[in-house]
Amino acid sequence: MRIFDVAVVGSGPSGVSAALELAKSGLSTVIIEKETLPRYKTCGGGFVYRGLRNIPFDIASVVEREFCSTDVFFDSIGVKVTTERNFPIITMVMRDAFDNLIVEKAIENGAVLLQGQAVLNIVFDGTMQTIQTSEETIQAQFIIAADGALSPVAKMTGWTETRTLIPALEYEIEVPEADFERLSQTVRFDVDAVPMGYGWCFPKKNHLSIGVGVISKKNKKIDLKAHYRRYLATLGITTVIKEAGFGFVIPISPRTDGFVSKNVFLIGDAAGFADPIVAEGISNAILSGILAAKAIAESNRDAVLAAQLYQSKLDNTILKEVNTAALFSKLFYEKTRIRNLVPIKYYQVFAEALTDLFMGDRTYPEDYKAAIRRKLKSMIFS
Ligand SMILES: Cc1cc2nc3c(=O)[nH]c(=O)nc-3n(C[C@H](O)[C@H](O)[C@H](O)COP(=O)(O)OP(=O)(O)OC[C@H]3O[C@@H](n4cnc5c(N)ncnc54)[C@H](O)[C@@H]3O)c2cc1C
Repeated sequence: MRIFDVAVVGSGPSGVSAALELAKSGLSTVIIEKETLPRYKTCGGGFVYRGLRNIPFDIASVVEREFCSTDVFFDSIGVKVTTERNFPIITMVMRDAFDNLIVEKAIENGAVLLQGQAVLNIVFDGTMQTIQTSEETIQAQFIIAADGALSPVAKMTGWTETRTLIPALEYEIEVPEADFERLSQTVRFDVDAVPMGYGWCFPKKNHLSIGVGVISKKNKKIDLKAHYRRYLATLGITTVIKEAGFGFVIPISPRTDGFVSKNVFLIGDAAGFADPIVAEGISNAILSGILAAKAIAESNRDAVLAAQLYQSKLDNTILKEVNTAALFSKLFYEKTRIRNLVPIKYYQVFAEALTDLFMGDRTYPEDYKAAIRRKLKSMIFS
């Protein structure tokens, strides 16, 4: 039986970033992935700059397109705002190639990949955990659960569901040349394309990734397919040459019952770290993978210390951010009547602030109540 310091379950951006960091620290690391790589992953593939900042190598070989500007349409009031930066706000990738590139880097640094093997069972035994995959049995002191929104490993470890999971649809579509030419010039978000949600149009090299998602748990019983069809009409698409649709969930709130148990560390979607306003999950997936790996490496494999270090790293970074963002998200999507009363010039302010966040140039205000009071005051008295 093979024995490792750390077993990382899942080869999405969270798992492979953790594995890369662990392998670089000299810890013996195995990545266990149920699919055969490279595999398609339901995702818009919009990778924001703050995530790119945490990738320690060039990803040019998997970049489909880069956009230094974004357009946000507030459809219900007919407002469009554009933000621009000197660096790509959003880099477009296809997740099969992107994830696989990071896997390759982790392997180059010494990680072992077991692909086409699902983790089926774990026997927890204090210092050493025994992991049964569909192909073999291995042992590891630590397990990093990077197995996505459904996280079977979290279930096997005993976590119950405390995250907010929202539904989203993603379509990879080919459209007539004139439409592609028109729509591939910009990244486009349409707030209100879905009640309490939004639609996106992400141009790739030769096709469009178009999707719709609900960002509030209040609006779960919704016919997203019908909204997708309507969104195509909003985009002026009347002919679709080729279309492949996929549905999945995105966890947009962190678990409330901790991120470490029985030497299992939750990262990425398994932990619930996607941004609560736009459901952008790749950047925090990468960051949480790095933080978990660093916590284990810095602890010298002391399980109690590693858990404490991971929690404090999360408290100082991701948790602070997503907890504040969750409150903004509620105001933004669930109080649309109030939002529609805000003077139009503040839509630009809002879009600029969000862009700064995704560039990694600012964080959400810690004292959000004071920030909102300040903003309201300036709106009333300006
Ligand atoms: C429709 C849609 C559009 C999205 N668009 C964007 C976007 O444009 N930008 C963005 O930043 N985020 C987007 N997201 C969110 C983003 O895709 C996720 O937040 C991100 O993939 C989380 O990464 P992860 O590594 O935690 O998990 P995942 O990427 O889900 O990876 C989990 C991996 O674990 C493997 N696995 C699962 N179970 C097992 C098992 N038992 N054994 C072994 N392996 C297992 C899976 O096969 C998978 O490879 C979108 C999500 C959806 C649903």
